Amino acid sequence: MSNPPLPDTPIRRVVIAGGGTAGWMAAAALSRTLGKVLDITLVESEEIGTVGVGEATIPPLRTFHRLLGISEQEYLAGTQGTIKLGISFEGWKARGHRYIHSFGTSGRDHWSAGFQQFWLRGRQEGLASDYADYCIELQAAHQDRFAHLPDSHVNYAYHMDAALYARFLRELAGRHGCRRVEGKIAEVETDAGNGCIRALKLESGDVLQGDFFIDCTGFRALLIGQALGVGFSDWSQWLPNDRALATQTTAVRDAVPYTRAIAGRAGWQWRIPLQHRVGNGIVYSSRFMDDDEACEAFLSSLEGEVIRTPWPVRFRPGQRERCWERNCVALGLAGSFIEPLESTTIHLIQRGIVRLLQSFPGVLSQAAIDDYNAQLDAELQHVRDFVVLHYHATERRDSPYWEEVASMRLPPSLQHRIDLFRETGLVFHQPGELFAENSWIQVMMGQGIQPRRHHPVADVMTREDLGRFLGDIRRNVLDTVRQFPAHMDYLRRYAPAPVPEAVKRAQALP
Ligand code: FAD
Repeated sequence: MSNPPLPDTPIRRVVIAGGGTAGWMAAAALSRTLGKVLDITLVESEEIGTVGVGEATIPPLRTFHRLLGISEQEYLAGTQGTIKLGISFEGWKARGHRYIHSFGTSGRDHWSAGFQQFWLRGRQEGLASDYADYCIELQAAHQDRFAHLPDSHVNYAYHMDAALYARFLRELAGRHGCRRVEGKIAEVETDAGNGCIRALKLESGDVLQGDFFIDCTGFRALLIGQALGVGFSDWSQWLPNDRALATQTTAVRDAVPYTRAIAGRAGWQWRIPLQHRVGNGIVYSSRFMDDDEACEAFLSSLEGEVIRTPWPVRFRPGQRERCWERNCVALGLAGSFIEPLESTTIHLIQRGIVRLLQSFPGVLSQAAIDDYNAQLDAELQHVRDFVVLHYHATERRDSPYWEEVASMRLPPSLQHRIDLFRETGLVFHQPGELFAENSWIQVMMGQGIQPRRHHPVADVMTREDLGRFLGDIRRNVLDTVRQFPAHMDYLRRYAPAPVPEAVKRAQALP
């Protein structure tokens, strides 16, 4: 059945439902960019609160902040922020094994072949050391060091306090004219004729009318799911985890510049180090581990004093069949969730916002809506495949959970990438995809997928030239990183954050 025509009235009033990371990122970006021509309102409920997690990011967030005119020092100091150079995957390939997926690029490519081809020949001939030795970010992560380089060659992201980030963005959005309303949405009113949302009715009796709505109500998906009835594609056949337990602890040592992802019997745990506290969580599959066992495994592994009572989160991996429907776009958890292993959700919110701004409708257009949905689908599936790779490519068989993920049937797109890399060392990559060749190579090799042969162009160099080529890169990486200060020494000078009250109380500081 075809949809009724969309209204052709100009869009002037935008209502954002929800004030978590998604809501406030959308409010800040929209008000900063279009605040002079749009009337923007955000409604949130303190009583309901936010999901309270989502504290590790990836490098494109820096671009988002640049577009919004956010000062990095103010942001880091205001959110307890630290630097993230990558993720340390512990126990993923095998128990006791560790590798880092960094945000850097390894070595130097030739136009006809990536650096990995030269490294593969070098390794075969005993000329190459660990792949990690050829990447500045990876070595800096290993050595807990960081510095900005004048030519911006270090690629990094952040760890931050999610609640402080929302507050930071709320202040920015307010300065650009976004109006905040406190209250619970009781009803979503739709137009029986065209199927669009007309207004949000609050429990207080207030009504927020709008021409365009952004659903940032988290897993509830009040607008896109409950009111507009857009279905959800479930990806649990590839992503087994459906529960998490999170908490915050005081820091017992200086923050390292990477997230830790520690694999366990039926899931994994995260450690996200901020300036004065640590974000901790366990993510697990309820089919393989019950809540009591997860809680015990989690609490017994924590370091430092617990400063926030652990809270549970239940989720279903997957995506809305359409993230933009009629006059409503879903961002954040209302739109999709691919579990937190590669810290991609905040990035997907950012992509949704940027794309929405780029195609922002003067009036609604079905062609623009279809285009937005198609692009987002492709992006989500790419990210999903990358995350699934970590589960499937493993030597672990020590529990039914790992046996199941190792033998699952993969999405054909991912199977193709693995086959191509294993047979040729080549990485299938399309322009615009979030995870570039270097990410796929680091994770595929980190998880134990080794190419069978290398590209013939790597054989053109003499053995001496190849040895010199690899040695020069390795020396340059080590010399560069040696000049970096310790990560926290750098941050304490660059953007120190005050000690939070909860941390002071737990440590009984004056
Ligand atoms: P929420 O934070 O749930 O906000 C929903 C908002 O809607 C709230 O303000 C709430 O009050 C409001 N609301 C709901 N119902 C009503 C109503 N009836 N009336 C009024 N207001 C209402 N992402 C990353 O990028 N990196 C990570 O490291 C990461 N880790 C994660 C770990 C876990 C376990 C989970 C589950 C997610 C993680 N994510 C991560 C995702 C990240 O948490 C979210 O993308 C991010 O917090 C955005 O959430 P949200 O704003 O969509 O939803």
